[in-house]
Amino acid sequence: MPLGVEALGDAALVRLERVSKVYRMGEVEVHALRDVDLDVRQGELVVILGPSGSGKTTVLNLVGGIDTPSSGRVLIGGTDITQFGDAELTAYRRDRIGFVFQFFNLIPTLTAKENVELAAELVRNPRNTDEVLHAVGLGDRARHFPGELSGGEQQRVAIARALVKNPPILLCDEPTGELDHETGRKILQVIAEINRSEGRTVLLVTHNSAIASMADLVVRLRSGAVDSREENPAPTDPMELKW
Ligand code: ADP
Ligand code: MG
Repeated sequence: MPLGVEALGDAALVRLERVSKVYRMGEVEVHALRDVDLDVRQGELVVILGPSGSGKTTVLNLVGGIDTPSSGRVLIGGTDITQFGDAELTAYRRDRIGFVFQFFNLIPTLTAKENVELAAELVRNPRNTDEVLHAVGLGDRARHFPGELSGGEQQRVAIARALVKNPPILLCDEPTGELDHETGRKILQVIAEINRSEGRTVLLVTHNSAIASMADLVVRLRSGAVDSREENPAPTDPMELKW
């Protein structure tokens, strides 16, 4: 796929240009996003902050190729994915995107390892399942079913499932929303480590402003519009975050 991520130079890896999204529900129009511009450089950790309903999930879904904008362009490595057909979008989601959700979305009848292997089978050059489980600190829980794991452990499986595909872009939608503070910080540390040591670009969405200081860039959304953008030259170690 001609996404040219390897030859980006200083250009944005992810760029939203005047992106709007309107959901129509019968007579009612919901403006989920209004003229959103966003630039994310390769290797950045971006936190998108905003209250419930501000459009955070919609941004992730558009970047992840799960949804399409009503207007505007979504450029990944310079390629406008809003022009993709179904087959190209499927390939894009499979090869370029790792998605981590608030509610983990694991398959309950498969073990931790099998959940990760299922994702690995989708792609041509997956990472080693055991290695990835080890990297998220789950080496010894691989044979357990989701129901036998704590919330934090289930989220680690979900992160491993996203990572095993070796995606350049990791999208995390409220990844600590269901976790207690201590477990949440550990999950954020895993995500930060993936960003810092593996150079993967991370977009993390949250309503929790305490998380913002771990980011290179904080984008605040309000009522579907960008309220502010703030570069952070000295991101905080997630273990020092408090909420
Ligand atoms: P957030 O993730 O910040 O809570 P969302 O992106 O999920 O916000 O939603 C933004 C707005 O769009 C909300 O008002 C929400 O109700 C609306 N919305 C989101 N998805 C849909 C949908 N599929 N159909 C109709 N309205 C939607
Ligand atoms: Mg949401």
